[in-house]
Formats: sequence, structure tokens, C-alpha cells
Amino acid sequence: MPPSASTSPRSAATLPQGFIEALAAVCGERTLIQDPSGMQRFLVEERRLFTSTTQVVVAPISTEETARIVAVCAQWGVPVVAQGGNTGLVGGAVAGSGEVLLSLSRMNSIVAVDAENYTITVEAGCILADVQKAAKEAGRYFPLSLGAEGSCTIGGNIASNAGGIGVLKYGNTRELTLGLEVVLPDGRIWNGMRPLYKDNTGYSLKNLFIGSEGSLGIVTRAALKLFPAHNQRRTAFCALNSPRDALALLALARQRSGDSVTAFELMSRFSLEIVDTYTAENDPFAQAHPWYALIEFSTPRSGSDLEALFDTFAEEAFEAGLIIDAIVAQSLDQGLRLVALRESVPDAQKKAGGSIKHDVSVPVSKVPDLIEKASAAVLELIPDARICAFGHVGDGNVHFNVTQPEGADKQEFLALWDTVNAAVYAVVTRLGGSISAEHGIGLLKVHEIADYRDPVEGELMRAVKFAFDPNGIMNPGKLIAV
Ligand SMILES: Cc1cc2nc3c(=O)[nH]c(=O)nc-3n(C[C@H](O)[C@H](O)[C@H](O)COP(=O)(O)OP(=O)(O)OC[C@H]3O[C@@H](n4cnc5c(N)ncnc54)[C@H](O)[C@@H]3O)c2cc1C
Repeated sequence: MPPSASTSPRSAATLPQGFIEALAAVCGERTLIQDPSGMQRFLVEERRLFTSTTQVVVAPISTEETARIVAVCAQWGVPVVAQGGNTGLVGGAVAGSGEVLLSLSRMNSIVAVDAENYTITVEAGCILADVQKAAKEAGRYFPLSLGAEGSCTIGGNIASNAGGIGVLKYGNTRELTLGLEVVLPDGRIWNGMRPLYKDNTGYSLKNLFIGSEGSLGIVTRAALKLFPAHNQRRTAFCALNSPRDALALLALARQRSGDSVTAFELMSRFSLEIVDTYTAENDPFAQAHPWYALIEFSTPRSGSDLEALFDTFAEEAFEAGLIIDAIVAQSLDQGLRLVALRESVPDAQKKAGGSIKHDVSVPVSKVPDLIEKASAAVLELIPDARICAFGHVGDGNVHFNVTQPEGADKQEFLALWDTVNAAVYAVVTRLGGSISAEHGIGLLKVHEIADYRDPVEGELMRAVKFAFDPNGIMNPGKLIAV
């Protein structure tokens, strides 16, 4: 079974007497939320695997207020759990009854756009889509893009080093982040808001906070990289025979596109089938195909060379039998519809029954082996299981999800959670991959990771955690087991 919120060491504790009053003394009127209806939206996480039992949510309005709150928590030894948009998929923003849940949702301003420096400065609670929009309005492009972009926040993206569909070209959030401001576990503020492309002045503290899942401090502001706006785009949804063909297709696309492949997503037949059945999106082809790839070419170059590059690539791919059929978007809107096919898979999965999910990565060249061998391992355990493999194949990240057999009992299926995980992770390990490609560790994988992490790496991580947070009040029990 999936682990439960009780894995958090403080989940059974209660807040010390007098603590709420001490907190209230440093908070503005609207910051402290204790009524159950006001708290509700912060408590239930995306996958419904964990529920927060915290007695208090704080939603500060500024860095200074956040620092005052954290200082009080430090004084009283009360843990703090940061929360952005609460869209994380590993239970990282879940707070137990002895913990304070600190929401960044009210710190959501775009602070500045410096179009000449190609940077944007934002508060951590800014919704990702708002950052994209502000960049666009300034004639620039912010490339982080993922299914939850309408509700996830930059702080959450940074804390989980989010990936998404643009990684192939632009990298993860880590590569997009230039500077940070962070409230430290003792309430001090670290001002690392340097929007510099070069800054070799010692250890990169910023990089420790990126991907730290709220375990080292609370990100309050960020300076992010921007890129030239795209002037040409070509989006296609292609039918393929196999993941191996997808790999060859990706290589061809990279070769022929003039370095313009900005997305390459793979979808299995089953994943498109459930999108067609359970969401507003429809299979765009008249007949079923074994695999699909969503391919996007885009470029800031002016003119119309991209269309010709794409057509040459597509022709060659058809001739080589790498593409069986394709829908090429004729407008921006049609392109968005094709992207929606891929983005709708998580929603469709929720409706298709219980899922045992694996957010894993392997070297891009090993993706076909991963899918083939992990599918065989799972089907040996559960012959009728439905493999829902899809993901950011351009960067080696496969969401290798297993949906319950049709008509099976959901709880009986989920009871196989650990066995299925072990089978899939064994394949991932053999292929030199990672058991957490982009979603992080949180509560969901905190115990499992110990079996897969190099012991020296684990020791160094614990040392870093202790150096920043000796009293263990920053999101304890997540990322690093205590
Ligand atoms: C439909 C859907 C699609 C998704 N697609 C992708 C995808 O393609 N790629 C990908 O990488 N992820 C994806 N995700 C998961 C992804 O990690 C989150 O959507 C996003 O990055 C988390 O942002 P958030 O603001 O919701 O963070 P939350 O869920 O609120 O928090 C996530 C973690 O960050 C910490 N945290 C949040 N804010 C701060 C802060 N200001 N300071 C310190 N710590 C903080 C929390 O404590 C927690 O550990 C998807 C999720 C959904 C629901």
C-alpha cells in the first residue's frame, strides 16, 4: 500500500500551549487561518494519498512576515511545511498536527521584468502561468511548462526542481533559476537575489535550495531566466509503431530541426485510449496505433524556415517508416489541442481506476529497454494490468504507471504497491536510472530512496540538512528520513 501521512514524525504531535498566540502576535490579520472551511483547500493533496492534519495554516504577505513566523516556529521548536500550489505528487506539502503549514499563495507578485537582462523577478507564490504571461507581455519567453501550470507556483517548482515538457531544450527549473531569496530555518533572510549569469563566488547555495523540497528553507523570491519569444512553431501528433522508433524519430528530429525541437513526448495506446474515454479530448486518428509522439519544433528565428525544416523531417520519417500517420497543427489553437492530449493523461488516469505510478528516468537511449523490461516484469506479477507509459521521452523521463486490471478490486490492486515498485525500480536501477525523475521524494518515496541512494550521497545530504537546519524544523520527514 502507499505510505500514509503517519510517516511524518510530527503528524501525531500537537502544538505546544501558547504557540498559536505567539504566532498570532507576529502575523497580520488575514495571515493566520484556523477555521476548518478556510483551511480545507490546503489540506488535501493532488493524489489523495495523504491528508494534512495541521491545526494552523499561515499565509504571509511578505518575506519579512514569513521570517517572523519562522523565527517563532524556531523558538518553539515547531516544524514548518511550505506549500505553494499544492499540486506536488509526492506528499511534500503535507503538514501533521504538530506542524505549521505555511502557504505562499498570497505572495504572488511579479516584481520586475528586465527584458534586456532576459530575467524576471517574482515572489515565490506566483502561479507558473502568470510568470509565462508576464514574460510574453515583455516580448520574452519563460520555458517551464507542465500540466499543473495554472495552479503550481514558482516556489514549488524551485523546491521540487520541476521538469515538464521543455526540459529537452531548456533544462529543469534549476537551469532556469539565477537567484533566490530564502527564509532560513532560524528566521534569518538569505538574499541571494543576484540575476547574474556568471557568479563564481564559492558554493552555489542557490542550487542546494533548488530541489530541497522545503527541507532547508522557504523560498520567498526568485530571479529567473527568460529567452527570446518564439516566432515560429510547428506542433504534430504522430502515430508510431514502438518506443524504439520514437527514439530514432527523436534523433532524426534533433538532426533536421536546426536545434528547434522544444518538446518530444511519448504516449502509449492505452494512455490515449483513456484520454479519449475519460476527458474532453479525443483520439485525433481514425484508427488505433500502438504508440504516439507529440513533437514540437519552435524557434525565435523570424521568417518561415521552420515549416520547411519540419516538412523535410516528416517526409524522411514517413519514408523510413518511423511515422505511420500524423496530425500537424495548422494553427496555434490546434497545436494547443494536440498538447492537451498529452497533458490530459494524469486526469484520465484518475478516472480509469487505481494506479501505481513510477516517475523514473533512464538515459534517453535506454527508454525502449525500460518500457519493454518494466512492462514484462509488471505483467508477470499482474497479467491483466494495464501499462500507462507516457512522458518526457526527449529527456529520458517516463511516467511508467500501472493501472488496475479492468473490473479489479482497487484496494486489492493497490496492496501490490511495494511489489510492483520493487519490480519496476529493479529494471530502472539495472539501466542506470533514477527512481525519481522530476516529482521528488516527499513522503511518498522517503523510505524507499534509502535502498537506491548511494550511502555516501545519503550521508552528505544529511550533513547538509543538519548544517542548515540543526533543529530539524523544516519539513521534517520529507526527502530525508528522520
Ligand atoms: C497535472 C499535473 C502535472 C504535473 N506535471 C509535472 C511535470 O510535467 N513535471 C514536474 O516536474 N512536475 C509535474 N507535476 C508535479 C509538480 O512537482 C508540481 O506541479 C509543481 O512543481 C509543484 O509546485 P507547487 O507550487 O504546487 O508545490 P507544492 O505542491 O505546494 O509543494 C511541492 C514541494 O515544494 C515545497 N515548497 C513549495 N513551495 C515552497 C517554497 N516557497 N519554499 C520552499 N519549499 C516549497 C513543499 O514543501 C513541497 O515539498 C505535475 C502535477 C500535476 C498535478
